[in-house]
Amino acid sequence: MKKLLSLLMVALVIFSLSSCGNIPANQSEKADLAQSPQDQGADDNNNPPKEVQKPIDCSKVKPNELGQVMVLMYHEIGDKEADWVRTPDNFRKDLQTLYDKGYRLISLNDLLDGNINIEAGYTPVVLTFDDGDLGQFKVKMVDGKPAPDPDSAVGILMDFYKEHPDFGKAATFYIYHPLPFREREYIEYKLKFLVDNGFEIGNHTDTHASLSKLDGNGIQKELGLNVKHTQEYIHGYNVNTLALPYGSVSKEYAKYLLDGNYEGIEYHNKAVLLVGANPSKSPYDVDFNPLKVPRVRGSEMNVEGLGIYDWMKYFDEHPEKRYISDGDPDTIVVPEGMEDKISSEKFTIKKVATY
Ligand SMILES: [Zn+2]
Repeated sequence: MKKLLSLLMVALVIFSLSSCGNIPANQSEKADLAQSPQDQGADDNNNPPKEVQKPIDCSKVKPNELGQVMVLMYHEIGDKEADWVRTPDNFRKDLQTLYDKGYRLISLNDLLDGNINIEAGYTPVVLTFDDGDLGQFKVKMVDGKPAPDPDSAVGILMDFYKEHPDFGKAATFYIYHPLPFREREYIEYKLKFLVDNGFEIGNHTDTHASLSKLDGNGIQKELGLNVKHTQEYIHGYNVNTLALPYGSVSKEYAKYLLDGNYEGIEYHNKAVLLVGANPSKSPYDVDFNPLKVPRVRGSEMNVEGLGIYDWMKYFDEHPEKRYISDGDPDTIVVPEGMEDKISSEKFTIKKVATY
């Protein structure tokens, strides 16, 4: 029975499109709406018109939702640029360059869930920050109340979003304890601010431990206590991704990275992020491995040709390698011939279309 079920589930229907505007099946409603503007908002009541999705021309937009996605890795944001330090101005430059080159922010969880909801023709990008340094989230008092310092990463992201709302607002902060973001009196304010504003908090172990030196019990203690301590500030928060300090773990105990339990505190990670230097495969790719998500360094210093600007240049020169959205999160659109590379078991609820 189980086998039969899984066979059924794999039976993804693949459509071939002459143009992306003619998406069949249950996409037709949207397509019809787009073609019949007189129907929009015609109800007698005052309901706002339904959101209309404009048909896109695949030959122009060239969607490729099996293309690669950069998961950017930052550490400290600080005054002096160094291997693991980005200045506020350089971080602003990174955001502006990404924006200008057609990248749009999505959260790591949305990437993992295949919930990639950006405009047609654009490329998703994920931001991550390791270590919870002060420069990532510093407090500045405004009218007697704490607010993000406009020169800290969170302040920069908030301001950039205000100016460019279509860029999106998302990042995952991989913190450890006991002093995430280094200002004791504001830990709770900061963690709540992040969650309230759509940012994510990830697991970076409890004490920034090198997990390669620990056994199964040691790993479970480090990961379980991180969750416990984060939840002391934000009750019930689901810490569900892990960035490995120093980027390694012994193979024997790797399973404890995903699930474990320390003194009754359970944890479950749906992705493990590496320090690695490459863009990630698309989450729809059969070869996408959530347990080894590589990251690209958000730096220009000693990146050996594998930093953020190197990869942006690479994607400028090889646009066919880059994830390009079709604008519809429910349909996976790829150039004809690539459909066999789609992980049909994981994304059974999506429709697949080729052109
Ligand atoms: Zn670290």
